[in-house]
Amino acid sequence: QITNNIKVETNGHNSNNVKESKIANETPQDLQEARRQLPVYMVRNRLLEEIKKHDTMIVIGETGSGKTTQIPQLIHEQRLEGAGAIAVTQPRRVAAITIALRVAAEMNTEIGSIVGYSVRFEDVTSPRTKVKYMTDGMLLREAILDPLLKKYSVVVLDEAHERTVSTDVLFGIVKLAQKERNEKKLNPLKVIVMSATMDVDSFKKYFNNCPVIYLEGRTYPVTIYHSKMKQEDYQYAAVCTIFQLHATTPANHDFLVFLTGQEEIETVMYNIKQIAKEATGPPIRVCPLYAGLPPAKQLQVWRDAPPGTRKIILATNIAEASVTIPRIQCVIDTGVVKERTWSGGTGAERLAVRATSQAAGWQRAGRAGRTQAGAAYRLYTADEFRARPMHQTPEILRCPLASTMLLLIAAGVEPSNFPLIDSPPPDSVKASLSLLKELGAVDSEVNPKLTVIGKKMSTFPIEPKYSKVLLCAPEYNCLDEALSIIAVLSSENIFHTPMHKREEAIKMKQKFLSPLGDHITLLNVFKAFCKAPLKKQWCKENYLNHKNLTYACEVRQQLLAICLKLNMTVTSCGQAYDQYNPQYLSVYCADCLRTALGSGARAQAGAAAGRRGGGARAAGRYVTAAGAAAALHPASALQALRPPPAALLYTELLVTGRTYMLTASAIQPHWLHQVAPDYARRCRANR
Ligand code: ADP
Ligand code: MG
Repeated sequence: QITNNIKVETNGHNSNNVKESKIANETPQDLQEARRQLPVYMVRNRLLEEIKKHDTMIVIGETGSGKTTQIPQLIHEQRLEGAGAIAVTQPRRVAAITIALRVAAEMNTEIGSIVGYSVRFEDVTSPRTKVKYMTDGMLLREAILDPLLKKYSVVVLDEAHERTVSTDVLFGIVKLAQKERNEKKLNPLKVIVMSATMDVDSFKKYFNNCPVIYLEGRTYPVTIYHSKMKQEDYQYAAVCTIFQLHATTPANHDFLVFLTGQEEIETVMYNIKQIAKEATGPPIRVCPLYAGLPPAKQLQVWRDAPPGTRKIILATNIAEASVTIPRIQCVIDTGVVKERTWSGGTGAERLAVRATSQAAGWQRAGRAGRTQAGAAYRLYTADEFRARPMHQTPEILRCPLASTMLLLIAAGVEPSNFPLIDSPPPDSVKASLSLLKELGAVDSEVNPKLTVIGKKMSTFPIEPKYSKVLLCAPEYNCLDEALSIIAVLSSENIFHTPMHKREEAIKMKQKFLSPLGDHITLLNVFKAFCKAPLKKQWCKENYLNHKNLTYACEVRQQLLAICLKLNMTVTSCGQAYDQYNPQYLSVYCADCLRTALGSGARAQAGAAAGRRGGGARAAGRYVTAAGAAAALHPASALQALRPPPAALLYTELLVTGRTYMLTASAIQPHWLHQVAPDYARRCRANR
């Protein structure tokens, strides 16, 4: 059905004939041979000359040309970093880890010695580390403690085209650091900005007309097919296309399918496995690739399938540019990506599936032409493609900035004087500063200075609204519980609800549900997880995400370490009651916790909301303290309560068509009027 809708439109780029060496089970010789085959290798001498000559440069090259893995190694082989180290930033945690592992293997050394990585909540480096892969967020955190980045002689800002907030801010940080290190006659800081495709002109201008090096591409022609008709359901269209191609394409052609997230990938994977039982064509091996996947499973993607088996990789945007998968001949591009945006007014975060930019469309198609000529099937029409924006909007223009602002202020930077390529909307800056003021992190919204609490808040690698909760918790004797809840809230979703087993998953969730709300429910799950002897098995039985819960445990450890460093007392509000009456425990504990959660600001740390009017129609519909209409999320533990609580406190707002309060607990209505004295008026305005 789908193939008939697809027609040939354009041919891809020119080819040249370099063979890619084998990736799987390589010997050290194989690895060295593979390195010599990469486009970067051909131009290494010129590249090194340029790096020696200039303090700043931009390197542009096709994904897979060896920028990320090779350039830091080349610099280190020549010892150009001197006494300092080389920092290489990545927007994604997974990319930082897998690339560091790959480079350690290529250098035949253990991870954590010469080559290491540092990502939030995990630092695998040592004083000997010279090549350090890290997330952009981690380097930004280091910049608070040392705005001159004195540890490093070279900073490589990779994947610049992604324009994450952290990378954007780092551009400014390194620019200021270079200038000051020059003025103070310290050793110079070399900055290398790397990217696949990018709007080079604005970057070049921003970095004072620095040189740009273009790496010779090494791609084969990619034939692009567009869908003839608009597709209503891209998941369905993807599955249909996969099987149509599967029946007609040789078995040694691997497929790469772009989807938006873990649950979607799992659903499609399930469907493929079901249909594959009866489909014509060679055997299939399906490999998922998304951020939350355990590293061992991620590596599957790079492993060869048995001869005669087709590998189908179902990936999120991560496969677009930050990691390279060899031997893909066929790309299926759904043309969508999941993106976080934010509306300054209501403080609601929007996690939405959006159409990709044209640049992303070309990037995705390019993945099919890495080792031989390939094809890309776009599940959208050519007209749709042409109507899309050329580039994605930089994150700084669409995201909450409170954490970033707090970091900048902590680093001693005045936000209004900070050199950014694109300035965020004034509304968004204002909203972030006013939130920080409400949380008590800064003394004023104009010319803000960090308060004592603000300084403490900036040492936690979590959102300011959550660090504030931790800082308030000792007062209510509930730091122990607050740590667990905040750790879970700072991780990805701990519930695992596969589409095809929805009912069962929901049934299993019942036993953790607390009538007090989602925060205590999360705490119940987390505590039970910590006690479970066979965690993996236990998670499977209970429809919980083992990986994300394990991660939450690590997060808790790290947060606890920071609390102890800040001399905070870790007490639990549950201890005295624990053995006698678990129910009583949770009521008492919930009170403490809810007070702690609410002790942040009216608008954020725990924002309150009141139920809208009476009657059955109004059930589950609320007005937030900031005056916005919001509904209780269908997955909330409070859904089971009849009547629904009159007032509640939530820590997350999510907009997916409607505005939902994602994590909510019940509170006393009088508390709501305490934190928001003008609530009644706002409510009337909203009727
Ligand atoms: P770029 O940064 O220019 O996109 P990379 O340096 O990431 O390129 O990748 C260069 C090559 O190294 C890729 O073409 C791929 O063959 C190989 N490679 C990278 N990461 C891995 C990995 N984790 N496992 C196996 N091979 C890899
Ligand atoms: Mg790269």
